[in-house]
Amino acid sequence: MLAKIFSQAFTKATWGTSASIIILGVNLVEMNHADHYQTALICKMGHVIHDRARETMLQSRVQCPLCGAEGIYQCEHCQAFIRGFNPQINAVDWQMGQAPKYCHQCGEPYPWIQEAIKTMVMIIDILNDLNEAEKTILSENITDLLELNSETDKAMAHVLDLSAKIKNTWGWGIFFEILKDLAPEDVKTHLGICD
Ligand SMILES: [Zn+2]
Ligand SMILES: [Zn+2]
Repeated sequence: MLAKIFSQAFTKATWGTSASIIILGVNLVEMNHADHYQTALICKMGHVIHDRARETMLQSRVQCPLCGAEGIYQCEHCQAFIRGFNPQINAVDWQMGQAPKYCHQCGEPYPWIQEAIKTMVMIIDILNDLNEAEKTILSENITDLLELNSETDKAMAHVLDLSAKIKNTWGWGIFFEILKDLAPEDVKTHLGICD
């Protein structure tokens, strides 16, 4: 395991100076990002287990104390370490409130976002007030609602249009609950689902 972490750290990170490599040897996992991020350990359901995980934690299988799901600390697509505490950016008492949604290196959604997207697609499928075209567009809109991009405005407009049509169904309520958990503040404000 340690050898694996070592080789990944060396292949993924770009170490500018020999001083960085000395740091790597001394405190491998804590400083495994060239940009000083420590590693976060997050369960597959998206609960933050630790935002500055120690090497010993990463060597053993850690389960989430909240839900029992397995903890991960690397992107499953590109193996980049999940970013946690950064002493150059964060105050000492900083705590990671929400798990990051997408890998900072390859941009793929983390497992907890993949699960949420799957659930939202399932919910859309049982919304009987929607026709097939509306369901397809809404499913395609999900990632634009979870992350601000050039399509987000269009996606929000579509949701508001549909909202007028299917406001009070049970499934639509769940769809909004997931958005409330995961969508950026701007999206929640625009859709009127702030706390
Ligand atoms: Zn959990
Ligand atoms: Zn990645």
